[in-house]
Amino acid sequence: MKLTYRYKLRPTKEQNAIMIEWLNLCRRQYNYRLGQRYQWFSATRTPVNSCPLNISVVPIDRIYQDIPEYRTQVRDGRKLGEDGLPITKKGDKHPNIVCGYVQWQTVQLGDLKNTKKLFPEYKKIYSQVLQDVIKRVETAFANFMTPDKNGNRSGKPKFKGLHYYKSFTYPQLRNKHISDSHVDLSGIGQVEFVQHRPIPTGFIVKLGTIKLEADGWYLSLALEDKTVPVKEDEEICPTIKNSIGIDVGLERFLTCDDGSYIEIPKFLRKASQRLARLQRAKSKLPNQSKDKKKLYSAIAKLHQKIARQRQDFHFVVAYWLFSKAEVVFIEDLKLKNLIRRNKPKPNGQGVFLPNRQAQSSGMNKSWLDAGHSSFFEILEWVAWKLGKRVIRVDPWGTSQHCYACLNQVPKSLSERWHSCSCGASLNRDENSGKLLKLLGLGLASIETAPQRERSPLSVSLETKVG
Ligand SMILES: [Zn+2]
Repeated sequence: MKLTYRYKLRPTKEQNAIMIEWLNLCRRQYNYRLGQRYQWFSATRTPVNSCPLNISVVPIDRIYQDIPEYRTQVRDGRKLGEDGLPITKKGDKHPNIVCGYVQWQTVQLGDLKNTKKLFPEYKKIYSQVLQDVIKRVETAFANFMTPDKNGNRSGKPKFKGLHYYKSFTYPQLRNKHISDSHVDLSGIGQVEFVQHRPIPTGFIVKLGTIKLEADGWYLSLALEDKTVPVKEDEEICPTIKNSIGIDVGLERFLTCDDGSYIEIPKFLRKASQRLARLQRAKSKLPNQSKDKKKLYSAIAKLHQKIARQRQDFHFVVAYWLFSKAEVVFIEDLKLKNLIRRNKPKPNGQGVFLPNRQAQSSGMNKSWLDAGHSSFFEILEWVAWKLGKRVIRVDPWGTSQHCYACLNQVPKSLSERWHSCSCGASLNRDENSGKLLKLLGLGLASIETAPQRERSPLSVSLETKVG
């Protein structure tokens, strides 16, 4: 079982100065290594279909002139072979270039000693923290080159500006480094932190990350306990009694199938108004002025506050839902469909007619996207923790069909009330929640074959226009 615990650090002035200096040095190192990787990449790549593979833009010798042919093992090898003897030992030589491929990470790790010679300030940094910077470069490239299990790749690794590189990592921080509200960070010293909750017994600290946020430094500990088995889905069987269906929306944050609902909290709206006011004030001040810098930090703190309020609200709602039921049915939102841009409407003479994109891009949409997808993630996490269950259901047609008779009752987005010829008359979102639950339980199905490709939104708009 893996957990992450976060603690607020209380460094002294001197420690704070060291940490800020380290952060800057780490960022410089990151950017340098990233640039080095790009240089090597652009020099050695060859288009497979038009050139022979062994041709490179720059002569190979020039690329490899800085790369040692071999690296020498400094310490005794600890890997043991089948006979129980170490496979490698001190002084062994390993080739850096294997079949024309270079282990860039190893080369860059080996090159750190040159960095320390050229820039003596790097000698002060704890060596494992510096090595972790190179691991980050490697990870950034790995995520860029190879897709994850969902087939998504991250973007091209970027050079990090001052505000985009905010943390450094101690990869071998352990329980022994932590004692009564102090953490022993090599090179920085004993740093005090607020131990608002103890590390659960039996858990081992695997690594620690020091992060700078708007209101100061934080320590994130990755904890692991291998004896606690990861709970598999206990496959609670959903029944009418133990489950609820929820519908999320713009009017109300969510509506349950029993009619209870939760409003979008006002404090988030208020905070966003305050944010807009600060942004306006900031834009009127001259660059580099003292007041502008103060506003920057005020804005950063407000962003942080909004994020925390929202997260807290999501947790409260998630626990409330699971106090009512064992299984929760949610919409399987296709966020890509929601964020998709409207089709352009050319009039045939080189002019584009209005396509309502401005309305679609409104604030409401982004609230919906950001708010609900992270809420669903939190809901699933809470379900996992409590041993309960979340089931995603295809929401197609749930807003347009009647839960009682399953007939289609077309309505536009602004119609908030659902009234059907069968006698059902209730709030639109409650109807969707009820229908979602029935669909999830397998007690109902909606004929979706001919219009399967369309989103409910476009159907409702067309019915309104037609
Ligand atoms: Zn009906």
